[in-house]
Amino acid sequence: MEEYKSKEKKRSLLERLNSGPVICAEGFLFEIEKRGYMASGEFVPMVSLDHPEALENLHKDFQHAGSDIVQAFTYNGHREKMRVIGKEELLEPLNRAALKIAKKVATCPIEGTEANLMAGNISGTHIWKEDDSKSNLEVEKMFTEMVGWAVEEGADMLIGETFYYAKEAYKALEVMKKTGLPCVLTISPMAENIMRDGISVVDTCKELEQLGAEVVGLNCFRGPETTLPFLRKIRKAVKCHVGALPVPLRTTKKHPTFFNLPDKNGCKSHAPHGRTFPTALDPLFCNRYEIRKFAKEAFKLGVNYLGICCGANPMLIREVAEAVGLIVPASKYRENISNHFMYGTNKRIPKHMKAYRDKA
Ligand SMILES: [Zn+2]
Repeated sequence: MEEYKSKEKKRSLLERLNSGPVICAEGFLFEIEKRGYMASGEFVPMVSLDHPEALENLHKDFQHAGSDIVQAFTYNGHREKMRVIGKEELLEPLNRAALKIAKKVATCPIEGTEANLMAGNISGTHIWKEDDSKSNLEVEKMFTEMVGWAVEEGADMLIGETFYYAKEAYKALEVMKKTGLPCVLTISPMAENIMRDGISVVDTCKELEQLGAEVVGLNCFRGPETTLPFLRKIRKAVKCHVGALPVPLRTTKKHPTFFNLPDKNGCKSHAPHGRTFPTALDPLFCNRYEIRKFAKEAFKLGVNYLGICCGANPMLIREVAEAVGLIVPASKYRENISNHFMYGTNKRIPKHMKAYRDKA
């Protein structure tokens, strides 16, 4: 395989985490769907084969916004999902294409910035069943083949994410650890606030640390409000690095995840399938200041691996990066209200425009 020649030495995941925050953009399903390259609900990342240029642009946009990691978009790109859509023969081409695109972007940093880490990715398979050795073996095979392709395509690290069964997460980590690469394992408890196999969230993270994960934590399903309480407990319970990548949505104690989040904002046309997830969540999103507050709080707790999952966009990733003190290429374009035509303070803004601001 061709070796990329970086001008400067690229630091490993642990070197970066030990010296400060590391930013990781996730949630490509929602963003690629929004950009018009994926069917919502079905959620298969065919984009790496159908529109590789769109996927490359997505990675570049997140890189520009400060993501230190380019995570290959293979979420849901596993054998079972490909069987569901009748395209199993495209499984390996899809994975390899996604990994190659991620590698390309990771090894071409924006001038003046450090090269990114390329991460191979596996995630919850949705076929894992407790005490069902047949399904467990099938899942293990799916993880093994995807991790194998990631290693062959030059992954610097591996991310296992969005697991709501503790034992499926353990299996994923076991397969990932065999490669010797640094491993991030983030879990996603559903609204019952416990893993589906009855193991507590904190105990799951403790076990993942014991099994050798470099980073444990939470990603997806939960917004800042329902992620933070777990982060406090996890940070106290483990010695390894902790990760937090919530969805940017206003989840609550009553509705801890985005799956059953109601829209009580005067919606006049509800989704035909009867819930806001996944296509009518728009009014329930956090604004950038809420995301900034979350990132600051998590970082203060000692959470060094930070990002946003489903619903992430480059603007929010920049917000996370800046909240923990980083200046990123997109910081050049951070908000500047002072030059606004009505709300600005710039001397050139005419007085009659400033006077009109509350009537606008
Ligand atoms: Zn997500």
